[in-house]
Amino acid sequence: MPRPIIVVGLAVFVWAGDAPGYRELAEPVPAARSSEAPRPRRPSASRRPARHAPRVQITLDAGVTLVDLARTYEIPVARIIAANGIREPRSLHAGRKLVIPGVSKRRPLRRRPICKSPAVEFLRVATDEQVRVVLTRCNGEADPAGVERLSHLARSLRADAELTLHPRLLEMLQKVATHFSGRRLEVISGYRPHKQGRVGVSNHTRGRAIDFRVAGVPNETLRDFCRAFDDAGVGYYPNSVFVHLDVRDQGSGKAFWVDYSRPGEAPRYGRGRG
Ligand SMILES: [Zn+2]
Repeated sequence: MPRPIIVVGLAVFVWAGDAPGYRELAEPVPAARSSEAPRPRRPSASRRPARHAPRVQITLDAGVTLVDLARTYEIPVARIIAANGIREPRSLHAGRKLVIPGVSKRRPLRRRPICKSPAVEFLRVATDEQVRVVLTRCNGEADPAGVERLSHLARSLRADAELTLHPRLLEMLQKVATHFSGRRLEVISGYRPHKQGRVGVSNHTRGRAIDFRVAGVPNETLRDFCRAFDDAGVGYYPNSVFVHLDVRDQGSGKAFWVDYSRPGEAPRYGRGRG
């Protein structure tokens, strides 16, 4: 029966001519070398990974980034993105299941070290304590360990009591340290418990204020720099040895005053009180 043979032969010829993958399909598939294996041309085969290809599934925890995963599994971020069909990496949320291609076991997460600002040198003048404190992370936010260390340095010596400083106080002090780079910050007073019978509540009683100076920098210069901070109070004491800086509620603006009293005297306010 010659007719059917001619038809079949023609069909094979046409298919081979149209399909560029014909030759590859006819040859043995090379052993899978993870993602570097050539992509199969046939769409039905390409979407399904080979059953033996190693991959683990993980659930994304809050705060974990693709960079953390790439570091942990020592593969490029792009491979994780491709393996999971991620279109918008920034929109990933906690709880999302992800496959990590090319690995067969989960590993303990290796996170990127947190970027922190260089340590700042401090002196507590009354006790001669000298410490170096990392005040903030590179994004400008207070470093929790730094808050603890500075809170201890700025404790009340009179009451022998400590109160956690407001994080924004450290963020402002970091700006001071960056501006007057390499200079020591000298703390005169920080936390001061409220005195019985005293009218008004000082920001010192709430861990929101510090009296300090910068070694080698005139207090007028420090005062002027601090006056640029928003939602902050700056007190200038021409007859004393420090500048007062405090944290105000957000949106409350700036406050500034001059106090001509000498150390130990009652306040003698001058022009500029705010
Ligand atoms: Zn003060």
